[in-house]
Amino acid sequence: MVTRALDVVLLGPPGAGKGTQAKRVAATFNLLHISTGDLLREEVGKGTELGGLAASYMQKGELVPDDLVAKMLVTRLHSQQSLAGCVFDGYPRTRVQADLLDGLLAELGRRVDVAVYLDVPDDEVVARLGGRRSCPSCGAVYHVLTQPPARDMWCDVCGSALVVREDDREEVIRQRLSVYRAHTEPLLELYEARGVLKRVPGQGAPEEVFARLADAVRGGSQR
Ligand code: AMP
Repeated sequence: MVTRALDVVLLGPPGAGKGTQAKRVAATFNLLHISTGDLLREEVGKGTELGGLAASYMQKGELVPDDLVAKMLVTRLHSQQSLAGCVFDGYPRTRVQADLLDGLLAELGRRVDVAVYLDVPDDEVVARLGGRRSCPSCGAVYHVLTQPPARDMWCDVCGSALVVREDDREEVIRQRLSVYRAHTEPLLELYEARGVLKRVPGQGAPEEVFARLADAVRGGSQR
């Protein structure tokens, strides 16, 4: 039996829980997790040319130019691990990126099977991101109130010191939200018109959100 690849796009405002949920979706459905935010932070951390170009946009909460992000995406998508399908987290964020993704997947005989919108109101986004603490080494994410690490400010997974991401400061959060509204939210209509959009309430315990999300993905995989 030949099983078809499954490609899932995870949409939602910054702080909707895309990163946390994308990791779970990837593990449960055996997909490659592609987070363009993580890939960009990796480039910044390594001090590459691309990282140097991207950093100033990221610090301000603006979008990194499409062509820079595309290079990283293509490399990941053409990797062996992407064969069973991918969960795209933080990509696409613009119409140009959505069109590029369609083209790249079409070359591989694939398509966006399901686009899940994690719906979280603005006030909650600001509260969530303001309390977020991230591990710069392994990417684990915590929250000071709802998901604190076991030991003060140290990562449970790898023991590194946790940090507040520079773009999790309030004024940058507001900017990221307005960029999201202007450029990314319109993609909901695009996927809705294609009949692949599933709206999932993003509030509640991460396990509850994941249960809803997994149902949506299963529904999409049967198309
Ligand atoms: P994230 O971790 O997904 O919230 O991304 C952090 C930052 O990386 C964003 O605020 C953007 O500056 C940049 N970024 C991540 N993904 C993209 C993308 N697909 N297009 C443009 N910029 C991106």
